[in-house]
Amino acid sequence: MKNTSSPAKPPLVKHNLIFFIAINLLGLVAAPIWFFTVGFTPAAWVLCTVLLTLSGLSITAGYHRLWSHRTYKASEPLKWFLAFFGIFSLQNSILIWAARHRIHHRHVDDVNEDPHSIKSGFWHAHMGWMIRDWPTSKVDLDQVPDLQKDRVVMWQHRVYWPMVWALNLGLPAVFGWFTGDVVGTILLAGAFRLAFSQHCTFFINSLAHTWGKRSYSDENTARDNGIIALLTWGEGYHNFHHAFQADYRNGLRWWQFDPGKWLIATAASLGLARELKRTPKFKIQRARLQMQFRELRERLAQQADDAALTWRETVEREYQQFKETVSQWQAVQAERMAAGTEALRDRWRKTELRTRYKELEYRLKMQHRRLTTLQQAAFSAA
Ligand SMILES: [Zn+2]
Ligand SMILES: [Zn+2]
Repeated sequence: MKNTSSPAKPPLVKHNLIFFIAINLLGLVAAPIWFFTVGFTPAAWVLCTVLLTLSGLSITAGYHRLWSHRTYKASEPLKWFLAFFGIFSLQNSILIWAARHRIHHRHVDDVNEDPHSIKSGFWHAHMGWMIRDWPTSKVDLDQVPDLQKDRVVMWQHRVYWPMVWALNLGLPAVFGWFTGDVVGTILLAGAFRLAFSQHCTFFINSLAHTWGKRSYSDENTARDNGIIALLTWGEGYHNFHHAFQADYRNGLRWWQFDPGKWLIATAASLGLARELKRTPKFKIQRARLQMQFRELRERLAQQADDAALTWRETVEREYQQFKETVSQWQAVQAERMAAGTEALRDRWRKTELRTRYKELEYRLKMQHRRLTTLQQAAFSAA
């Protein structure tokens, strides 16, 4: 009879296990030993840095924001570039990566559907999901019919494995041979670079679902974390990303570290990318305010004094105003839809609508400021 209380774990995926042990031993143990005993040539450092940057950006701007989420349209040269350098990261082909990633978004946190649900544990979300043959790790190509029509994606899928070895092992070896240090270059620009970049990406599935702030939504475990963004080419603003996955940005503010966004915006200014999708400002502010109201209410509910009562009344008044602004915005939206594309060619009408949108956005912005002040005033004395 089967033991239903602790079901047996699925079998190990031996080739993945052997690969991960080998790459981590070579990259994170042997390479540092080599660094302290023999040292690396400047050329090996340069190759390591260049490959780390190009492959990391290709995952972020290519695999993730272009192909998985279609947040912008890329020109053919940019697509070839992203598909080629993405191979260096050894995270499987675009087709497979995107199929799993779309499932992750659709069923985030669900232990029976999400390939790397954090609810199955930190280790499972980080690497465990690739080491055993979990039912959730199966690839469902029905998720990516659009990508199956993309010739760059299909080219990369066909040549993927031979190219992985040629680029990750062959290229550092040849480069090292020319610069006089084959072993050192393979260890630094091959193994260390690969192991390091893989863990950084895996952190998005583990750490970015554990550590940080939920600024836009608490419907899932995704968090915003500036430190993780530093390691992942801007992908650390994961709460924003799960809330607004069609947006080409992850770090919304100009000062937030998001090289993926900067690359896409630069490509657009050079004519290499177009139709960059941005979430309307109002929707972003609405989500942020909703979270702020929730937090304020929860914290004030825990206090029973007279001051808390007054604060609660103020919060409720603010909330009524918020609801009013949201319904006005919905009315403008409906009006714009009803006007149709014909009417929107009318310049006066367009300007009028834009002014109303701006006013409503401004109202939410000011309300966010008031709530922040209120938060500080209500809890600084507590
Ligand atoms: Zn995503
Ligand atoms: Zn996620």
